[in-house]
Formats: sequence, C-alpha cells, structure tokens
Amino acid sequence: MVCRHAGDPLILEERPRPSPASDEILIRTRACGICHGDLMAQAGAFPFVNFPIVLGHEITGTVEAVGAEVSSWRKGDRVGLSVLFLTCGKCKHCRAGNENLCAEWVWTGMMKDGGYQEYLCAKAGYVVAIPEILDLAEAAPLLCAGCDSLQWPGARRICGGEESRSDRNGRAWESGSSPDASNGWPDRSPID
Ligand SMILES: [Zn+2]
Ligand SMILES: [Zn+2]
Repeated sequence: MVCRHAGDPLILEERPRPSPASDEILIRTRACGICHGDLMAQAGAFPFVNFPIVLGHEITGTVEAVGAEVSSWRKGDRVGLSVLFLTCGKCKHCRAGNENLCAEWVWTGMMKDGGYQEYLCAKAGYVVAIPEILDLAEAAPLLCAGCDSLQWPGARRICGGEESRSDRNGRAWESGSSPDASNGWPDRSPID
C-alpha cells in the first residue's frame, strides 16, 4: 500500500519482490502495526517523509532470503523491524549501542519503504529476533519507537538490552526508574 503524496489515501500497487543486498535480509511481512506516527506521516505532518512512501514501522515477519554476507539469520527466522531502519554506525552513540540517539538515522516507513507491503528488505544488523512465545501480530506494536525508547520490559526482553537506557527525550535513565512522560513526544527529530 503506497501513499503517493502527503494527504493522499493509501493505494494498492503491484511491485516485483525485492532482492536483498549483501548485508540485508528479505522479510516476508506477517504483521505491521498502525501507529499514530503513520497517520501523521500520511497527513504531511513530517517534512522528512520521502513520498511516495510505504508506511509502517512496527513490522514482524519471517526471513525469506538473506544477502551473501549475512550469517546471523536464516530462512524462516521470526524477526521484527522497528522505525530504526539504519544509522551511521560510526558516531559515539552508535558505537555505544545507543543507535536511537544517532543524528543520521533513517526511519522505516518514512524515509525508506515500510511494512504495509508483503516483502521488504532490511539491514541484517537492524532487526531483532521475535521469540516463539510471542504471536507475530501481537508483537508487531512492540517495535514502535515509543516502546523502544521507553524500553518497555517486554521490548527489552526481546532485544536483550542492557540495564541503562534512555527516555524519550534522550536522557539516560536506569532500569527500574521512571522515564519522563511529561510531553509525550520526542524533542528531537532527524532534521535537528
Ligand atoms: Zn550514528
Ligand atoms: Zn509506531
């Protein structure tokens, strides 16, 4: 489903199945959450959206194929892809494992085509394993950036994250403390 211009409805479009690059996997999408961020992107509220765009950043699916250099995933693996499609991989935040703070991030479903399609390619290092205990449709909304930045306990279990994380304003907070929920929206964006 494609949104061709800001404010347009989503339309069905037939596309060839993509092939993964050497560092990518091909995901067969099984579920994708509908986020308020998707509605804002469709409405044209975000200046960084690359129209035409396939929305959707709360993606779960199974690995259909892997690129030539990918050894971490195999066909059939259950995976999830969040809004964080790619980061620079070089800055201090990326090197520290805090890629969500990278100033050069690329957002799934806003800058790169997202999950409202049957197949999509993702960087092998930017997907997480979804355990068998979680239904793929129920797990999909956990991939939202909100859950990721708040480190909701379920998301942490999925990602196997560390004990120190950051709140939605990018400030570090320790496991067990409460993040700042005063404004409900991050005060930074990819265009900062
Ligand atoms: Zn970075
Ligand atoms: Zn979301």
